[in-house]
Amino acid sequence: MSERAILVIDEGTTSTRAMLFAPDGRCLGSEQRELAQHYPRPGWVEHDAEEIWSSSLACARAMAEKAGGADRIAAIGITNQRETIVFWSKRTGKALAPAIVWQDRRTAEMCARLKEAGHEALVQEKTGLLLDPYFSASKIAWTLEHWPEVREAGDDLLVGTVESWLIFKLTGGLHVSDATNASRTALMSIGSGGWDDELVQLWRVPRASLAEIVDCAGAFGETAAEMFGAAIPITGMAGDQQAASIGQCCLTPGDTKATYGTGAFILTNTGPELQHSRHRLLSTIAWQLGGERSYALEGSVFVAGSLIKWLRDDLKLLGSAAESEELARSVEDNGGVSIVPALSGLGAPHWEPAARASISGLSFSSGRAHIARAALEAMSHQTHDLKTAFASDGADWGVLKIDGGMVANEWLAQDLADVLELTVERPHFVETTALGAAMLAGVGCGLFGSLEEAAAMRGAMERFEPALDAERRDHRLAGWAEAVEAVLKTTRS
Ligand code: ADP
Repeated sequence: MSERAILVIDEGTTSTRAMLFAPDGRCLGSEQRELAQHYPRPGWVEHDAEEIWSSSLACARAMAEKAGGADRIAAIGITNQRETIVFWSKRTGKALAPAIVWQDRRTAEMCARLKEAGHEALVQEKTGLLLDPYFSASKIAWTLEHWPEVREAGDDLLVGTVESWLIFKLTGGLHVSDATNASRTALMSIGSGGWDDELVQLWRVPRASLAEIVDCAGAFGETAAEMFGAAIPITGMAGDQQAASIGQCCLTPGDTKATYGTGAFILTNTGPELQHSRHRLLSTIAWQLGGERSYALEGSVFVAGSLIKWLRDDLKLLGSAAESEELARSVEDNGGVSIVPALSGLGAPHWEPAARASISGLSFSSGRAHIARAALEAMSHQTHDLKTAFASDGADWGVLKIDGGMVANEWLAQDLADVLELTVERPHFVETTALGAAMLAGVGCGLFGSLEEAAAMRGAMERFEPALDAERRDHRLAGWAEAVEAVLKTTRS
């Protein structure tokens, strides 16, 4: 009889997926459902928490069936969109309010007020994060203030990030959160690994509503028998970017991965010592195993693939996301066009939530190909800005391991190598987030003795080498610097 499979639930921002892996890393199947995005007001982004659950369960059930039933599955791993926060009733297990999504900017003013009052140093020191609406804590504080269903729930209220919500539903009542997801709430002291009383008070979060923080691999619990016909152990959990980092085998200090999906997220492993950034990068937990934490520095870019989606769906400038590649190749250069994709503010290293995007350098000779090319170039430039910040923090990159939906674009992969002057590595199997969760689940159920052993699940890679001459590269970098400067000047004036 063949070996039992690992089932991964990968709950992303725009879709939920379940995937089945063989212990040697082969992907045996996947099932996906789109997730509805709700934009009730400008800057607000919500998901229906019940839909997150029902589509995750439906996808997982399809994979359990494909595996041949629950007893053909050794373990479940969970990975998820981070920072997004869910509010539910302990008693009924039902969501009490919409989930507030990581992209939501409704707490910009609240964060600015706290920043002005001098609280950012404390937040940064304890959490490795900044005072920005991106992180969960301000979203919880806002909800408690504005939504009576949540405020009045009292002892019945449970609050958690998405993995926490899913594990509660799967197990029928367990309230845990893994250390990587907890590290994104701005409520956790990432040095000591627990919720921090001072931060919990600062954001006025009811302490009893928070989950128990656990490792990323281990025997957390089992699915309730009725979910899949028999109980399946849940043994791996990590936020999506940390899971991708593990899936790319960034297991030693200096190893770096960049994921280009809706946004772009770059993590460099910094080892077992917590390192603080002096250049507005984030410190975060890479994983926690056996109570021991490994850390990473992170640069988050809010707009990556969403720019291509916007050009396609709103401006109707592209027939498909893939057409951006064809168009970029059809012109010799960007024709002087630059795009600074600050459609929802600028993330690291600028952190300007109020910044707005620009398309500059247009003339009558600019065509949609130049705009498509500038859009892809913006990814390389945003990454280059981060590379500079990481290097200044003493975490320079050797090779850049890329993944995410956008890196199907060969032109972009080569442009990254050119602009960064680095070897860029792209795995043949680009679903590294799910793979990382499978590796953790494999460690958690004892299939592997360590992450290093689980690294055998990672398959072959393709390499892109830098090939742009210095003059053209300098010209590109100067054009971008000018465009960003103009955006920042407008924002700050
Ligand atoms: P997420 O996990 O954040 O939902 P994915 O990793 O699935 O996102 O990536 C999807 C994003 O990648 C979309 O925003 C889409 O516009 C972009 N994308 C997909 N294919 C390409 C392509 N060939 N070229 C450029 N962008 C692409």
